Amino acid sequence: MTENKERQPQVKISRRIFLAGGLGAASSIFVGSINPEKVLAATKKASFDVEALRKAVTCDISLPSDKDFKDKVYGGLWNRYYANRAPQVAVQVKTDADVIAAVKFAKANNMKVAVRGGGHNWCAPSLRNGGMMIDLTNMNKVISIDPVTKIAVCEPIISNREIQQKLKAHNLAFPSGHCPQVKLSGYLLSGGMSWNQGVWGHGVESVEKIEMVTADGELIVADKDHNQDYYWAARGAGPGLFAVCLRYHLKLYDIPKAFTCSAYNYSMEQYKEVAQWISEIAPKLDPCVELSLWMVTAPAELAEKTKDQGGKVCMVTGTAFTDSQEKGKAAMALLDTCPVISKCLSKSVNQPSDFEGLFDASGALWPENMRNQVEAMFSNNNPAEILDATAEHFKKCPSPATVFMFAVFTGPNVPTPPPKDTAFSMTGKLYGGPWTMWKDQADDAANLKWHKEMITLLKPFTVGHYVAESDTVTYPEHAVHAYSKANWQKLAELRKKYDPKGVFFNFTDGLA
Ligand SMILES: Cc1cc2nc3c(=O)[nH]c(=O)nc-3n(C[C@H](O)[C@H](O)[C@H](O)COP(=O)(O)OP(=O)(O)OC[C@H]3O[C@@H](n4cnc5c(N)ncnc54)[C@H](O)[C@@H]3O)c2cc1C
Repeated sequence: MTENKERQPQVKISRRIFLAGGLGAASSIFVGSINPEKVLAATKKASFDVEALRKAVTCDISLPSDKDFKDKVYGGLWNRYYANRAPQVAVQVKTDADVIAAVKFAKANNMKVAVRGGGHNWCAPSLRNGGMMIDLTNMNKVISIDPVTKIAVCEPIISNREIQQKLKAHNLAFPSGHCPQVKLSGYLLSGGMSWNQGVWGHGVESVEKIEMVTADGELIVADKDHNQDYYWAARGAGPGLFAVCLRYHLKLYDIPKAFTCSAYNYSMEQYKEVAQWISEIAPKLDPCVELSLWMVTAPAELAEKTKDQGGKVCMVTGTAFTDSQEKGKAAMALLDTCPVISKCLSKSVNQPSDFEGLFDASGALWPENMRNQVEAMFSNNNPAEILDATAEHFKKCPSPATVFMFAVFTGPNVPTPPPKDTAFSMTGKLYGGPWTMWKDQADDAANLKWHKEMITLLKPFTVGHYVAESDTVTYPEHAVHAYSKANWQKLAELRKKYDPKGVFFNFTDGLA
């Protein structure tokens, strides 16, 4: 790695100190919660003038000594497992001027900056030890939607559901992510594994322009003609970006007139035939069909029938985005041709839906308030090989909420080349892995062990990772493997050029 090590966070608080701490009321749902006294003691040693920072910004700031600090720093995190890192100060910016002032203050005071978007990244890279957290929670408006130019301008903290709801009023849509609550903020900076990706491309491919604040505290506009290096880096660098993004200018699309959805539950006994058949139909399907292969806990009505298979099923889902239900049905016809379809335990075929329906379904599979470990990867293997290696292990999964899913990309050009002009640079025939989800802290050890074993099983099939859905905290090398070698190198060079003093945390600093 050629990351900039010049500037280290001022306060070094070891993970051990955090883990040693007792659980505070506000964060009792988190593991390894911080010991606020230790953080406070460390902060007291820090040499920055709190009053000067208060004067520099118009917004609230939170210090570890504040009663609501834990709530401000951890309350917005999706993953209830992580709360073992803490900044020296969190700044809840409200305006561009706040962001500029905060960055300039950090730079002048040798503090490092981490950015909190929606807090949805599974491994919480917005939480670093020491430094300043710039929290964008208040920057949550859709500024404009122009149905003529088909461009929307959004602040970062807009959820997938919200953007699609607003665009629907204009018969427009955007390649957002899949779950309702996740925010555009970090999604658009990481790559963007989107709905209807086969037709619309990744989220980053529809980011036309970004307004951002640099490490010098300068507000710039980056697009294909201006500040091209920033434009390139922002579309993929994710947690490794060296700027704060304040507004995204998004390219919009006509909303598909028909969303056609099917789901088939097969016994795990049939996973081999199902997965092999999936590999054969994927290249024949139109790219407008989003196809996924799953191992999940059986729905309640199939619990009895699947008892001898660990209560799990092998599920196939498809969603077609088309002009009419007829075209949707035609596009989905191949999903009815599985050689073991007569043994299908239950199915729901060609149901009309819309974004609301898709978000409801995804929201149910990835529920809130869970403890999570996630490792999504790209693969070029036959899904049958992957399930062969993992099915037995999945049946022993300690938590019924855990989902194992692979998006199987469709169409004749798979794997499609990654976009040419973005830091995001991964591709594969498949994308997915285990989303290990559980509720109680008491079950941490069992789930962590199971998850780790699953990653080991998947390793031989992995060609790359995705910074938005990989545990780059536990496995820093997965950040490296989320980029082509050339792009990883270019990112490091750009960081050196545009953030030579290391104002922004890089991928790895402040995590241990
Ligand atoms: C339930 C669920 C479903 C998901 N589904 C998908 C999916 O379908 N497709 C997909 O691609 N991803 C998906 N993700 C992953 C998600 O897109 C990323 O984790 C993304 O980072 C979330 O954005 P955020 O702003 O909430 O991130 P945060 O956790 O707030 O930020 C992550 C990092 O990104 C950087 N960052 C964020 N915002 C900014 C900004 N405005 N300026 C500068 N840096 C910033 C910071 O370095 C920060 O540490 C899903 C996540 C969850 C929890």
